[in-house]
Amino acid sequence: MRLSQYLISTSKEAPKEAECLSHQLMIRAGLIRRFASGIYSYLPLGYRVLSKISSIIREEMNRAGTYEMLLPLVQPAELWRKSGRWNTYGEELLRFKDRRKGEFVLGPTHEEIITQLVKQEVDSYKKLPLTLYQIQIKFRDEKRPRGGVIRAREFLMKDAYSFCRDKEELSSVYEEIRKAYERIFSRLNLNYKLVEADTGPIGGERSEEFIALADSGEDKIALCERCGYVAKMEKAEYALREKEEGELKEVEEVHTPDIRNVEELSQFLGCDARNILKTLFYQTDEGIIAALIRGNHQINEEKLQKLLKTRTLKLAGEELVKEKLGVEVGFVGPLGLDKCKLIADNEVMRGRNFVAGANKKDTHLLNVNPGRDFKPTMVGDIRLPVEGDRCIRCGGRIALRRGIEVGHLFQLGEKYSRDLEATFLDEKGRKRYFVMGCYGIGVSRLPAVIIEQNHDERGIIWPREIAPFEAVVIPAVEQTLKLSEKIYFSLKDAGVEVLLDDRDLSTGMKFADSDLIGIPFKIIIGNTFLREGKVEIKDRRGKNIKKVEEENVPRALKELLRDAK
Ligand code: ATP
Ligand code: MG
Repeated sequence: MRLSQYLISTSKEAPKEAECLSHQLMIRAGLIRRFASGIYSYLPLGYRVLSKISSIIREEMNRAGTYEMLLPLVQPAELWRKSGRWNTYGEELLRFKDRRKGEFVLGPTHEEIITQLVKQEVDSYKKLPLTLYQIQIKFRDEKRPRGGVIRAREFLMKDAYSFCRDKEELSSVYEEIRKAYERIFSRLNLNYKLVEADTGPIGGERSEEFIALADSGEDKIALCERCGYVAKMEKAEYALREKEEGELKEVEEVHTPDIRNVEELSQFLGCDARNILKTLFYQTDEGIIAALIRGNHQINEEKLQKLLKTRTLKLAGEELVKEKLGVEVGFVGPLGLDKCKLIADNEVMRGRNFVAGANKKDTHLLNVNPGRDFKPTMVGDIRLPVEGDRCIRCGGRIALRRGIEVGHLFQLGEKYSRDLEATFLDEKGRKRYFVMGCYGIGVSRLPAVIIEQNHDERGIIWPREIAPFEAVVIPAVEQTLKLSEKIYFSLKDAGVEVLLDDRDLSTGMKFADSDLIGIPFKIIIGNTFLREGKVEIKDRRGKNIKKVEEENVPRALKELLRDAK
């Protein structure tokens, strides 16, 4: 491809709304363009990357014995009514009517439609297990689209669905797909973690997520630096700290004018946040409850909700707390809080001589001791892990990291086959419901995630297998244009995906564009050629320069490409 003819539009600046680095680089490199919130086009350069990612996914899915197909994006509402998700999916589901007043949705996922299809097409166990997949557009009217293609409204997903005779068969299919995912993400050179996950609105029995590590990610995970234990932050287990020892001192009142939060209090009294008790109020099915944690911790609402077995859990506003309990948020504490249930975190019970609110304006108490001065209704693990906690498995140090979900595995069981009455006949001629699994990969999110992990101050550094082009030939001085063309054609003949930068620009700008776009190798024909008769091959990742004779360029480059990651 001659760059003078190709659609390439790079820029030095990215728009202000591009907050994360991959988003900025994708716009600056001219890979994507935005049309509306969460709605993007992939330009030719970006689309080449996307296609290469799709090809890797295809190869590995096919190798795992699954079949590619294509389902409609527009789905009849009737199927969503049957599964119950017409009511439960919420506002992410875009609903509309056609000219005949028929109701439809734009598919945010395809469980209903595939179940209906397989119900019609498969009636015997002989065809099972069967796994079908597609790489197709999804639409989710996300509340907060962000990060460009990371959380878009219209996006490309690889979704696969398996149909099995029973749970055992599903487990083995699930394992195979998990292995395929591991091969896919390692070919994409991703640094990822596999974590247990919630089944969420899709429902079902077992679920795991592939989380690619990235500081800009929305997902938080806890990770043991020693044994590799990893879990989503809300699910993470950790070892309890040792019980604190020492004398139980007498309770004392202190005047704390207008000191309302842990930070102000720890400064005012010169004490560690760990030694302050924090009381939070939640509205639950049974009214308001108080949750008690140490000042350096945060509530784990998921665990609190489980412990309380409540369907609803919402922080209670200051006004409501004052009205129902007669206390002022900011000066609340566990003593004499007898109008509501008090749930204390395990670690509260292991400390002593805490600072806590006195349930009186501008007043706190010193030397509050759990057990002696107050008795919680319930004790349990209701906090999120913190950096430096000890691993539940090996006692190693827990670190907190951020990441982006790139893939998801679900064991659905019979949820959809029951709702849509999708059955097959087993070996004994009995009618049975399909036991299903579903498996997603965020295809159009992946280029951004890969950039998050592979970039430097000059731009993107694509892993070789998904770079839009493998090399660019750059005539660095006027006199070498003809020769550059010759080398470009010899590389094309050798099967290299190569660009010729024949644009009327300075060599510096050509170098900068090539580095911004992330082309793995530059072939430079400039002063070194005029002086020594040698062509330079420069690696995007390092400063490595190889000098070779003109006729040896294809062979040398092929070797470099073969060894490149
Ligand atoms: P998230 O928690 O990030 O919203 P999800 O659990 O809703 O993801 P799934 O329904 O499991 O996602 O979809 C499968 C994959 O599709 C996800 O692992 C993710 O990589 C990708 N994906 C989901 N939502 C989006 C989106 N709005 N934009 C781009 N990719 C997405
Ligand atoms: Mg989602």
